[in-house]
Amino acid sequence: MHFFHAKPLIDQSQVFEIIKLMPKGAVLHVHDNAITDINWLIKNATYRPHCYMCFTYERGALQFQFSDSQPTDNSICEWKLVETERAASGDVDAFDKMLYDAMSLVVDDPYAKYTSQNEVWTYFGEYFVTADGLVFYSDVFEDYYREGLKEFHEDGVQFTEVRALLQPIYELDGSQYDTEYTLQRYEDANKDFLPDNPDSMGSKIIFTSIRLLDKPTIESVVNTAIYLRKTHPHFLVGFDLVAQEDTGQPLLFYLEELLIPSEQGEDLPYYFHAGETNWQGVHTDENLIDALLLNTTRIGHGYGAIKHPSVLKNMKDRNIPTEVNPISSQVLKHFDDIRNMPAAYLIAEGYPVVIGSDDPVVWGASPISHDYYEVFMGVASARSDLRLLKQLTMDSISYSSLTGNEEQLCMDLWAAKWQIFLDKVLDMYNITDWERYVPTTEPATDVLPFSRAATQDSAFLLQLSLLFTVILVKMFTT
Ligand SMILES: [Zn+2]
Repeated sequence: MHFFHAKPLIDQSQVFEIIKLMPKGAVLHVHDNAITDINWLIKNATYRPHCYMCFTYERGALQFQFSDSQPTDNSICEWKLVETERAASGDVDAFDKMLYDAMSLVVDDPYAKYTSQNEVWTYFGEYFVTADGLVFYSDVFEDYYREGLKEFHEDGVQFTEVRALLQPIYELDGSQYDTEYTLQRYEDANKDFLPDNPDSMGSKIIFTSIRLLDKPTIESVVNTAIYLRKTHPHFLVGFDLVAQEDTGQPLLFYLEELLIPSEQGEDLPYYFHAGETNWQGVHTDENLIDALLLNTTRIGHGYGAIKHPSVLKNMKDRNIPTEVNPISSQVLKHFDDIRNMPAAYLIAEGYPVVIGSDDPVVWGASPISHDYYEVFMGVASARSDLRLLKQLTMDSISYSSLTGNEEQLCMDLWAAKWQIFLDKVLDMYNITDWERYVPTTEPATDVLPFSRAATQDSAFLLQLSLLFTVILVKMFTT
């Protein structure tokens, strides 16, 4: 079932109730301008003074701009003050819903509206243009980011690695700041968030650029990334290229530019989106090979990897995880049926996998819980249990950019929350005699390929107490 149709059903399920409560560790694949609920942008940002809007003549795409006077450039659309338009509408709720619908990809019939990957990507790309007019206004910027971190924290996330284009922040008079300024404002917002949320590790940034730009621009961006990595070593953790991979430039096109850090002996870890395609034998799936040759730390999506045994072997040998984003992949039309996601093979074979949500607000998903639900119920075996979820959440921390004390601190935070989570669920189902649910035999290996930390944990027996509960709930809610 498409996520747009499944969501109301998922939201009523007991499995989802449990997954929402579960501490998720880290989210390692999400994009900066799609982390905060669209409703927050509408109810908060668009209610601020000096907010202008318009719909483009060509495609009717919504645009926003904050300006101290009426914008005079009406070449792509005719700007109007939001405040005036909202008042003139006569129905504020309907007006705000219209704004929401113009930003979100959610529709009643996604199959009718989005008939191809290119078509859904066009609408998807328009979301970012629309949101950016609001998000990168100086007065909104940090509030937006802090709100996003808060929403992830409330969804049980201890740490977030955010891919960010570091676009220019702008003021009412139209003046703009440079890339480092944007990074600094992210860092400030992150620092502001932490004291109020001592049980969170906040966020770090993976600097991204766009795989449609020319080589000289990418050269300049890579040099900026090297500089920012040096000047903000604890906050900027690496570099990546984004945009629709099938229609964008391959990594190989930017080979000279991407080799600059290693040739100059500079430290710039890569976290490449690679292989986000249904094709085989084209530059997109072959990006996987180049991502590995360029020493990528993780692979975003990695959808085409199962068609390349040597890529898979290399990823396993080098312990390079795939960032799996099930709802994103379904909405962006890589498959209709989530059970056919290639990640099912990766999980069954014990490849390292971390769960991401990519751009959850664009498809109306929670920060990460819905993606965990889809993995647990749709991608993994019906016989998988709490140990799979535990392994995935632990792996999200161990495959993050956190190292040393920070990694340990995050794992400790997660572990304390995990115990609270178990107690809460036992309470919810009124289970006092959990010992009798402990199975006496180990499951078959193809049911439970995870033989790493989760099964060696000293609290293993306690986790098993929930095994049957979760399976039973799972059976009765499907
Ligand atoms: Zn992505």
